[in-house]
Amino acid sequence: SVSDPERLREIVGEICDHMARETDRGQVADYIPELAKVDANRFALALALPSGEVIGGGDADTRFSIQSVSKVFALAVALGRIGDQLWTRVGREPSGDPFNSIVQLEHERGLPRNPFINAGAIAVTDAILSRSEPREALGQILQFVRFLADDDDIAIDPGVAASETVSGWRNAALANFMRDFGTIERHPEKVLGTYFHQCAIAMTPRQLALAGRFLAFDGALTPGGARAIAPRMARQINALMLTCGHYDGSGEFAFRVGLPGKSGVGGGILAVAPGRASIGAWSPGLNAVGNSQLASMALEMLADRTGWSVFAPK
Ligand code: GLU
Repeated sequence: SVSDPERLREIVGEICDHMARETDRGQVADYIPELAKVDANRFALALALPSGEVIGGGDADTRFSIQSVSKVFALAVALGRIGDQLWTRVGREPSGDPFNSIVQLEHERGLPRNPFINAGAIAVTDAILSRSEPREALGQILQFVRFLADDDDIAIDPGVAASETVSGWRNAALANFMRDFGTIERHPEKVLGTYFHQCAIAMTPRQLALAGRFLAFDGALTPGGARAIAPRMARQINALMLTCGHYDGSGEFAFRVGLPGKSGVGGGILAVAPGRASIGAWSPGLNAVGNSQLASMALEMLADRTGWSVFAPK
């Protein structure tokens, strides 16, 4: 497999060139009005390596809305604070349903399948709120992301949060449904407000790659370096990203790319090549199941050229 930074730079350059020519770029999400304004021609790929070096290509320094990629960071915060008890509120199975689906909740007593579908993420946010008020909980998630990326210049985009607050009827339905079953304990409005703001974290693909290092390096920011979470938890999060990180496209992503990954409707994907790199990819156009069309394709090309699939021998 490839680890030489020079060769990795070439590969990133080739992928960026390829994506600049790609005409089938998917559809930019428009159910959150603020997201519809983003330019579909954007593309970025950034690799954070064990050395601390970041290789960035394309729009690697342009801020975007991480949306559901934030579910990874919220999950890590929740696991760090309440540990395995979290699993009484949310399952660990792929859903096979769209990201905002409600059907499974009714069949399974209001218990969401996994922490990466909207219902599951709302339950995780509620769990964090069992110990903190919304402002404090958001502060903790944001501080954690800044610590991971070693960069204080990461913030919540209030326009995106407001835009989702006025259009998030489906999420409100999920939260109310779960409140009725007792899966969430706070008032749904409080939980949703926190969830919408967490989804509205904006960062650059370079910052995202840096923020994901703790998953690539077994809970630490660099191999053997400062620790963010226990190795066991980092491995568990990676397992969930591989099986559940792309909604009802999770099987397809695992099949094509072979790396744990988490997508967001802002077009971002955080992917993890354990021991090798944390990868931030971004392009706003989405495929039919809501995952970035070009970021998925780029990760497939990257895994192919580097031999980084988790199923390849080291
Ligand atoms: N904030 C978005 C929502 O709840 C996140 C969805 C996503 O990124 O997939 O609809």
